This record gives sequence, structure tokens and C-alpha cells, in this order.
Amino acid sequence: MLKDENRIFTNLYGMHDRTLKGAQARGHWDGTAAIIEKGRDWIINEMKASGLRGRGGAGFPTGLKWSFMPKESDGRPAYLVVNADESEPGTCKDREIMRHDPHTLIEGCLIASFAMNANACYIYIRGEYIREKEALQAAIDECYEAGLVGPNAAKSGWPFDIYLTHGAGAYICGEETALLESLEGKKGMPRMKPPFPAGAGLYGCPTTVNNVESIAVVPTILRRGGDWFAGMGRPNNAGTKLFAISGHVNNPCVVEEEMSISFEELIEKHCGGIRGGWDNLKAVIPGGSSVPCVRGENMRDAVMDFDALKEKGSSLGTAAVIVMDNSTDMIKAIWRLSKFYKHESCGQCTPCREGTGWMMRVMARLVEGNASVEEIDMLLDVTKQVEGHTICALGDAAAWPIQGLIKNFRDEIEDRIKDKRMAGMAAE
Ligand code: SF4
Repeated sequence: MLKDENRIFTNLYGMHDRTLKGAQARGHWDGTAAIIEKGRDWIINEMKASGLRGRGGAGFPTGLKWSFMPKESDGRPAYLVVNADESEPGTCKDREIMRHDPHTLIEGCLIASFAMNANACYIYIRGEYIREKEALQAAIDECYEAGLVGPNAAKSGWPFDIYLTHGAGAYICGEETALLESLEGKKGMPRMKPPFPAGAGLYGCPTTVNNVESIAVVPTILRRGGDWFAGMGRPNNAGTKLFAISGHVNNPCVVEEEMSISFEELIEKHCGGIRGGWDNLKAVIPGGSSVPCVRGENMRDAVMDFDALKEKGSSLGTAAVIVMDNSTDMIKAIWRLSKFYKHESCGQCTPCREGTGWMMRVMARLVEGNASVEEIDMLLDVTKQVEGHTICALGDAAAWPIQGLIKNFRDEIEDRIKDKRMAGMAAE
């Protein structure tokens, strides 16, 4: 369990002063210029040593990602873009940072931008996050006033500007290249890769897109050292992590914990246990709505990190843990997700545009048991035709929940089909 002295987010619940004064009293913005003075290579090496893996879902090593940015400018500016679009159902961790501990993010933006030779950072915030936008903008204004951002940011000699852009509520704008399109004022449609953003991103310039949590933890890592961060969690799964636990637990919450905490400890210590007790646990979606579900009995001994959940046939994703008890109609729950992904598809590639609608319609029939058993395998086959055959990961995100359902709850789907048939025969 995470010790209090290792906590990075000390105002996650908004119990303390979130203004600059309050943040400074809690140790933020402390020695920022000294960190910058140590130089780009030191910062990037320290981030690599910390073992931080991106907190937006993919888990790509953050220090390595930064090192892809050109060391010398070819005349084009470089940009840091912070993905604050947080639209995955179940995911609600970044909002706590932005509304209660915004200075962790802003200080992180300055240091990360410096490390990547960027004088400007854009934060793209989800359209529905009105209060979060206000809180973050107020914190940015405070930083400009105090000289922590601006022509000589935090007296480091580095000119740095930060811009907050409000999205319009499209899930697909959380995909990094769709986000860049949207920032440029175009329709939020993902781009083909390559070129990758580090080569040609925002306005055709070298760009790195990072998640809010990935950037907000940077200043503390650099103040305390990469080894300190790497010392928490298991090898290759380092550090602290915000977990957002929702669904059928007694006390749903967002909590900062040590990576690799056991699922049981996470639920018992922070959520007051499963509603109705552990025997009532039916399934868990451990990493946000796009990852496959895991049967409750398989989650009892789960370790909450990237590698362990992969071994369980799922993923840590954004660490948005959706808990479902025995009252849940699993088929209906996954149909609801299918409906979401169908609605959010941008429509530019055929397998996703046609596949998400097709899958949603079959799922709707399965909810009613209004199908034949053979259609289960047909549906599984279609998910495989969508997965990996699209421009962006939305196709995968639509396919994986259904694959998880069929793998783990095929008996429930078959029973419903049989029950429906029996009821039909009885009525004849
Ligand atoms: Fe658009 Fe779907 Fe293709 Fe992504 S996978 S680019 S959302 S159509």
C-alpha cells in the first residue's frame, strides 16, 4: 500500500487550498528552475530511469517517447500537447488532477516542454469538463501572474506559453492525431501514421502528446529522483497510479496507489469491499471500457499493473476499474459499450464504420436472446475483422469488450438464446 510520504497528488479530493499558494505550501513549484538547469539530457534520462509508462492507456515509456523529439530544431517549433480529453467510459482520474491539483500539471508542462525543446504547450480538455477547465485556467492565470509561465518561466530563462483548448465532446478527439486535427480547427478525424507526431504533429511540427497524469507526475519524479519512482511497483510497472473504481463497490472512488497493488487490497482498503460481498462479484473491466472483462473469480488474485493484467487476458488501460456484481446483465452491459463505440466512430474507415454498427445490432439481438447460437462465432469473427484493420484504436476498442464477453460469458449468451427459443415453443 502506498505510504503517505510517497503520494504525488496531495490534494486529490480538494480538501486543501488548490491555489498557487496552497500548491507551493505542499511542495509544488519548488526548485523548478534548478531542475531545468540540469538540462534536457538529464531530465530525459531521469524519466527513463523512473520507468514511468504513459498513463493514458497504452503504457508506452514516457522518457523514451520524449527522446523521439528532434534534439535540434530544423526551424520548426516543437510542441507539447496534453491530452485531457478523458472520455473513455469509467475513466475519471485526470479530472481530479485538473480541478483539485492543477499546479502539478502546469509545472509538469513547463519541465516536459523544456525537455522537448518546446516553448508552447497546448492542453486539450474534454468539452464536458466545464468546472475543470475553469479551475485549470485559473491556475494558469495565477502562474502567468507569478512569472512561473511566460517569457522567463519560473526564472529559468526558458520562454514558455501554455494554452487551454476546450473540446466539443467527441470521444474520438482523445485519439492523439484526431486531437491534433481538432486543435488545428478541423474535424476530429484520426490521421494515418506515419508520419508520427514527433516528426510531423501539430501544424506539421514535431509534437509529443502525453496524458495529464503522465505529465503531472513529472516534477515530483525529478525532485525525488527516477530511482524513487522506480522503487514502487514491480519491475517494468513502476510508480504510483491513480485508480478510478466505479460500479458495484460500496465506496466508488479515485485513489492514488502503488502500482502492482492487488485487486483485493485495492477494493477492500479504498472501496469498502464489493457490494454484497466477494461471492457477489461477477466481472470486472479493469482498465476502462475498451478492455476485455475478466470473470470475478479470476480477478480475486489479480495484480493491478500492465503486465499482470495482460496475463489475465485484459489490460490496465487507464486503470478505470469497473466492478460488476451478480445483478449485472453482462450481455446488456457490453451491448451498451458497443452502442457507445458505434456512436463515436468517426466513420472514415470501413471496418470501423460498418463493423461497429453491425456488432451493435447483433449485440442488441443477443440481449434479447433473439439469435442463433452459430451467430456467436460469427460475431467473434467480425470482431477479429475489425480489430487491427483500422486507422486508429477505436476499432479495437469496439472489438475487445465483445471478445471478452464471448470468452468469459459464452454460457450466458447461449442460455439466453435457448431460453428465448423454449419460451417461443411454449407459447406456440
Ligand atoms: Fe475513425 Fe473508427 Fe477509423 Fe478510428 S477506427 S479512424 S474512429 S473510422
